[in-house]
Amino acid sequence: MLRVGIAMLQGARHEHAEALRGAAAELGFEVETVECRRADHVTPDLDAMILPGGESTTMRIASQYESMLSALFDWMDSHPQKPVLGTCAGAILLASPGADRSPYVGAKIARNAWGRQRQSFEGVVDVVIDTPQADYKRIAPIGPDRFQHQPLEVQSLGADTLATGFPGVFIRAPRFDASSVSCTVSARLGDEVVGVLDGSKMGLTFHPELTLDRRFHRWLLNQAKQQKGAV
Ligand code: GLN
Repeated sequence: MLRVGIAMLQGARHEHAEALRGAAAELGFEVETVECRRADHVTPDLDAMILPGGESTTMRIASQYESMLSALFDWMDSHPQKPVLGTCAGAILLASPGADRSPYVGAKIARNAWGRQRQSFEGVVDVVIDTPQADYKRIAPIGPDRFQHQPLEVQSLGADTLATGFPGVFIRAPRFDASSVSCTVSARLGDEVVGVLDGSKMGLTFHPELTLDRRFHRWLLNQAKQQKGAV
């Protein structure tokens, strides 16, 4: 059984939980998702972590009350091999954690660098690392949680495109400075670097949880499993 933490700071969190369930079904893995809302939820037994997208300033402010962000960074420092997937605002946190912490991915990132909310867009992304192959599996929706939050219903876009491009959803997205990248590029949009991989940390400037193409979630689970097996 793998246990995957989701940093419930703010933003698109429940969709990540749903994507993880789908990815686990596709790989035949048993996975439990753990909603990390307080520092003491970020425990050493977690096998992987997701830093969702949303609004990084809000995340930094919201996390001050529960010391969540420092707990997450401390967890990453204590478990450098455990995989982390940071999407959009989560990628900003990986690339510029602030508070005197060194970046977790070797790439400079600029917030809101594609323009305003209205300039949000979708584009076909090239995934340039290997991710575990599996056939798409439909899963039953989770339904509302105790806060009446329910994952957005995602489009079937992506389910049929596994072998080709990845449906990239860019929402007031940040932008990596391609000339600054000192780690592996994991995803491109034309000449742009939209995904980086630095050791066990993946930062994506788009929202893979808003599609049914779960290859990045499968990557996370597979890494977590390999890591767990190696311990
Ligand atoms: N614009 C947001 C920020 O700067 C990121 C947007 C997103 O996560 N979709 O934090």
